[in-house]
Amino acid sequence: MREPENDPLQQLIGLLKSSSSLIVFTGAGMSTESGITDYRSKGGLWQRFQPVTIQEFMASADKRRDYWAYKKELYREMKRAKPNAGHLALARLEKAGFLAGVITQNIDGLHQISGIPPEKVIELHGTNRKTVCLKCEDETGWEETLARLEKGEDIPLCLQCGGLLKPATISFGQGLDSGVMTTASMWAQRCDLMLAVGSTLIVEPAASLPRIAKKHGSKLVIINLSETPLDPLADLLITEKAGKILKQVVEFFLGMPIE
Ligand SMILES: [Zn+2]
Repeated sequence: MREPENDPLQQLIGLLKSSSSLIVFTGAGMSTESGITDYRSKGGLWQRFQPVTIQEFMASADKRRDYWAYKKELYREMKRAKPNAGHLALARLEKAGFLAGVITQNIDGLHQISGIPPEKVIELHGTNRKTVCLKCEDETGWEETLARLEKGEDIPLCLQCGGLLKPATISFGQGLDSGVMTTASMWAQRCDLMLAVGSTLIVEPAASLPRIAKKHGSKLVIINLSETPLDPLADLLITEKAGKILKQVVEFFLGMPIE
């Protein structure tokens, strides 16, 4: 039997106990257990669809058609997806007052659906759950857009003004929202424990937020199935699926079952 102090779960529980400002940073690995494919992974959507930049989207009807074909697949996946044990565990932590906020690279909205208040979630890459008109900025729900795609529209246009519609996500070739980044960076500076879950921590700003947290004195825990470039910075590394670990840790920590 392992000594408790060497057991990563016990170590994580110890870190949670001594934290007064926990920020959880989540990537694609957080949602794979909900059936959302990591588009970068093997068999991911990128192997069937070429990424379309915002510039290509604006300039070419063919590219817009490709883009919406890809989004239609993502929407169908999102329609089936439900928060997994990991999402529910984080929502429980929030409800119990132990979670200051979530910063996510995911665009599936599952953290909010699991019960975390929207003001406690920063979506670095925007959200697939809203469609925006690039001309009049009218917003519609994604389900309305999916219904139009399913009916055979290949490039849906704004019903108010005829302008181009796009999901409210950050596209390739488009910079992140500077206000969103400023808030995320502030959260990283203020936390005393950052839990990076299901992110390879390679693309920006995923790579820099944990660094900012560490630089300002926070502890860093990385839960991911593969190695990350920030592993040497971590106070604790757990090579596991996100949902399983978060469920176990939160159940133990709060003394109540999840689900
Ligand atoms: Zn419009």
